[in-house]
Amino acid sequence: MLRTHTCGELRIGDVNKHVTLTGWVQRLRDKGSLMWIDLRDRYGITQLFLEEGQTEPALLTAARSLGREYVVKVQGTVAERIAKNDKMPTGDIEIKVSSIEVLNASKIPPFTIEDQTDGGDDLRMKYRYLDLRRNPVRESLQLRHKMAQQTRIYLDSLNFIEVETPVLIKSTPEGARDFVVPSRMNPGEFYALPQSPQTFKQLLMVSGFDRYYQIVKCFRDEDLRADRQPEFTQIDCEMSFITQEDVLSTFEGLVRHLFRSVKGIELPTVPHITFADAMAFYGSDKPDTRFDMRIAELTEVAKGKGFSVFEDAQLIAGICAKGCAGYTRKQIDELTEFVKKPQIGAKGLVYVRCEANGTFKSSVDKFFDEVELSRFAQKFNANAGDLILILAGETDKTRKALGELRLHVAGQLGLRDKNTFAPLWVVDFPLLEWNEETNRWHAMHHPFTSPKPEDLPWLDSDPGKVRANAYDMVLNGTEIGGGSIRIHDRGTQQRMFAKLGFSEDESKKQFGFLMDAFEFGAPPHGGIAFGFDRLCSLFGGADSIRDFIAFPKNNAGRDMMIDTPSPISQEQLNELGISTNAPK
Ligand code: ASP
Repeated sequence: MLRTHTCGELRIGDVNKHVTLTGWVQRLRDKGSLMWIDLRDRYGITQLFLEEGQTEPALLTAARSLGREYVVKVQGTVAERIAKNDKMPTGDIEIKVSSIEVLNASKIPPFTIEDQTDGGDDLRMKYRYLDLRRNPVRESLQLRHKMAQQTRIYLDSLNFIEVETPVLIKSTPEGARDFVVPSRMNPGEFYALPQSPQTFKQLLMVSGFDRYYQIVKCFRDEDLRADRQPEFTQIDCEMSFITQEDVLSTFEGLVRHLFRSVKGIELPTVPHITFADAMAFYGSDKPDTRFDMRIAELTEVAKGKGFSVFEDAQLIAGICAKGCAGYTRKQIDELTEFVKKPQIGAKGLVYVRCEANGTFKSSVDKFFDEVELSRFAQKFNANAGDLILILAGETDKTRKALGELRLHVAGQLGLRDKNTFAPLWVVDFPLLEWNEETNRWHAMHHPFTSPKPEDLPWLDSDPGKVRANAYDMVLNGTEIGGGSIRIHDRGTQQRMFAKLGFSEDESKKQFGFLMDAFEFGAPPHGGIAFGFDRLCSLFGGADSIRDFIAFPKNNAGRDMMIDTPSPISQEQLNELGISTNAPK
């Protein structure tokens, strides 16, 4: 080793030791006769000290020629500091330097390597290796490491086996586009990168592996919304001979273990809510339950008074913002603008203020008297000082819009605290959803998800009504994992493909291997996959997953550092039998 200690290690008990440290020059402070240098490595910062008269002139000159981010090897003696710094673990000591060796010089970095940097996103991405020197980014990756370790410890303790599945596969329809890889040896043919190891983990169950997991890269060629990565990591799991309840309790256990071991937090019990209730009460299939503010329906008490917006509506419903009766006209206008945004799509917003004196003031006073408004208030258990916000329209749209409004208002009220964790299971998802664009049914989770046997009679007559044995774990309004109990017989799987519009020939071509396998003693099985990057960012209290990925891509799917995607040579194209290079 070039060093005797790391830069995070020395304490008051080490005074008088002769040590050798290596690291990067974080900062130089030159006060003429006195000079301090902060030396940094992954483990911390140690202060170096030089003093005119005490330190050799040549050494002082050498120190003065150092720059930020120079890599140096320093020898010296540990001394007690006069001005201690209790914010630093090494803050009681400093090193009286006796030699400095420059191991490598550094150009001036394009942004400051400090916790708070002046570098913009693009610059930080281009020089990601410098960004990774910054504490917050390094700490995020250390958190990720810990999460992965603890995941393995937990799953291993329950007999799960980590198995690697291939990366060059054939497309699996999970709803996104595949990334494809041309095959040189099979001109005109392509592999696809896995959107998930779904079929492989099911085949491992057929093989009798019983419990599988993998912390695995998955790839989806989607239009990149903010904070999505084309390649991302899942904790992917599958189990045999289990019921849905077994899967839920096993993986509630995983999340509980992670919170306990990584954050020292004991999670509350994880409630279960059906998809139907989640939509009705929260207007979302991933409700943020850190706060209540449930949607209440007013249709029956609000119709019949001649207010046309309500009369024409399928659903009239609202939320109650506690203590917000004092919202100004301007604040309510802002909320109205919010719900009218095209992404939210409401036509307008009705409000009812529950005044301190027990009366009501609303934007629909013309149509509703005090008694009628008090009936509204009862639906929310609203008290004096509360503000009721009401939307009306088509049921699903109104619920979703209220769901968004709920989050927006809660955000304003500071109810979405990053250090509060409210997990829940959403269960009983619909099996299928109608897609207007393709004009056919799509699997809401994926085509391997089993329908609830009691709902099967509707598969032909009313497919939208069939519920699936599918579940999501939601944390603070974010879906962190999802899975299902699978179909494990050829007949049902065939029927499912048919419902999704696959001809018998097509389903055989794409998934013949899976259906064949089902005929050789496939056990009942089910599983789940967690989005690992997102889980890490939630644990880290961050909004973005980027800093939990060592080398992420930007919103346009580019790696700014290695500058890819990029064209390939004509020679490579020829070899692959691809005749043209797409224009840039
Ligand atoms: N393969 C699924 C997904 O990626 C997870 C599962 O059903 O286990 O969402």
